[in-house]
Amino acid sequence: MLARVGFGTIKRPPPTVPCTGDCGTHSKFALLRNTRQTALRKHSHPLARSNLFVSPPSPNRTNLPKEIMAFPEFPWKGPSQSFVTHAQVLDYLYDYQQHFDLQKYIHTGCTVQHLKVLTTTGDNADQPVSCLSPETEHWPRIRLDWTIAESDGTAASVSREFDAVCVCNGHYGVPAVPELDGLKEHYKGRLMHSIAYDDPAVFAGQKVLCIGGRASGSDLAREIAVHADAVYLSDSVAPPMDETGTPVTKYNVAWVPKTTAVLADGSVQFDLGCNMNPVVDVIVFCTGYDYSFPFIDEETSNISLDFATGSRRVQPVLEQFWHAVNPNICFAGLPHSVLPFPLFELQMTAAVRQWQDWTLPTDKASRMVMAAKDAASGGEGMVNGRMPQDTHFLGPAQWDYCRRMAEYAGTYDDEMENYIATNKVSCRCVAAVLLLLCCL
Ligand SMILES: Cc1cc2nc3c(=O)[nH]c(=O)nc-3n(C[C@H](O)[C@H](O)[C@H](O)COP(=O)(O)OP(=O)(O)OC[C@H]3O[C@@H](n4cnc5c(N)ncnc54)[C@H](O)[C@@H]3O)c2cc1C
Repeated sequence: MLARVGFGTIKRPPPTVPCTGDCGTHSKFALLRNTRQTALRKHSHPLARSNLFVSPPSPNRTNLPKEIMAFPEFPWKGPSQSFVTHAQVLDYLYDYQQHFDLQKYIHTGCTVQHLKVLTTTGDNADQPVSCLSPETEHWPRIRLDWTIAESDGTAASVSREFDAVCVCNGHYGVPAVPELDGLKEHYKGRLMHSIAYDDPAVFAGQKVLCIGGRASGSDLAREIAVHADAVYLSDSVAPPMDETGTPVTKYNVAWVPKTTAVLADGSVQFDLGCNMNPVVDVIVFCTGYDYSFPFIDEETSNISLDFATGSRRVQPVLEQFWHAVNPNICFAGLPHSVLPFPLFELQMTAAVRQWQDWTLPTDKASRMVMAAKDAASGGEGMVNGRMPQDTHFLGPAQWDYCRRMAEYAGTYDDEMENYIATNKVSCRCVAAVLLLLCCL
């Protein structure tokens, strides 16, 4: 039977594919607009029509210019500034939803409580197999239980089975805070995570240590430095110190090595014999977030998923995306230090295409080997300048990742290459301009 579904014609019954994630940015949009995508990509790149760098980032604005945050089929219509407010991003997403008439597919106010991979053998042998399974395999269907918040304050419960599930619950909500020797015993100042950061002015006159020097750490250090007495930006990839152990210092910001301990006198010790041992008023952990899937339970979900707190790694997943054992479950947005909107959109387009025509390995054993390799892609120990917890850190590797995703999606062509290459150049320009702003 030929079944017409939201994303093309397939020789199977129509699949049911929800995306867990309430008003998440990417999932539903990508699934539902796939047929329009190739045609809409014919738009010229938005950068061609924009004036970049009109206003620099600030705490309440994006840290990427809107021109490279746009979905290619829906360029921003305004405002004129490149670094837009969070409310403007929300408006953009709502406009997208309206433009493509997606509201009817989205159920807000629903919280997924439990995911269960159904068994296709034993007591539940009558459970249907996902209609998206390739010919050589039987992927079990998945049951989701969710609650709907009612206006009277009560919650209704719903249970439904699906052929595939996109898990898009966001990965910037559970702060990751590493252990630090002596912190509990000796530190008397204020402790916070960057998730709680709002107003740099509250640091006026203080000595502030930002632990973690990636996107959040460097943004916060730059902003806080305007108000604080001194800022220490600590990271294992800090630039080399001179022979006396003096770190690179610009104005009131010192770029110090990794923080190793809080000493008995309350001062902070940095790695590599750094000669600074400040007593700081505030420590801001800019150390990222832990992955969290509270609706997946080792005992009851019938799926193996390792995302232990502190591990910064979800496995076993293929290409940081498809579950290796149950490939009809994917996890959008695991990669970080990337251009999120374009990359996550490519992921979702790849999911849709692969579920119509699976070209990745069709045996579980090969997929597990591939997933193990992907999980170690950050390297064990320091490999290629990356730490093991960096499985999902892509940075410069994101462009090849986008190419692979486009290939899985069947959309890799000259135009796609142009799009990816333009994003790469644009990102480099943004990084260079921000660096320049820091040095002024
Ligand atoms: C400090 C900071 C600054 C950033 N700046 C930028 C920037 O300038 N530009 C940029 O492009 N990106 C930026 N990002 C990244 C961007 O925010 C994310 O990439 C993006 O939000 C990911 O979208 P998502 O849809 O995957 O997840 P989210 O936007 O987090 O959406 C997840 C949704 O899932 C819902 N949800 C969670 N659990 C459940 C459940 N059990 N049931 C139902 N729903 C659930 C949540 O309520 C939420 O609505 C920044 C991130 C951080 C932390």
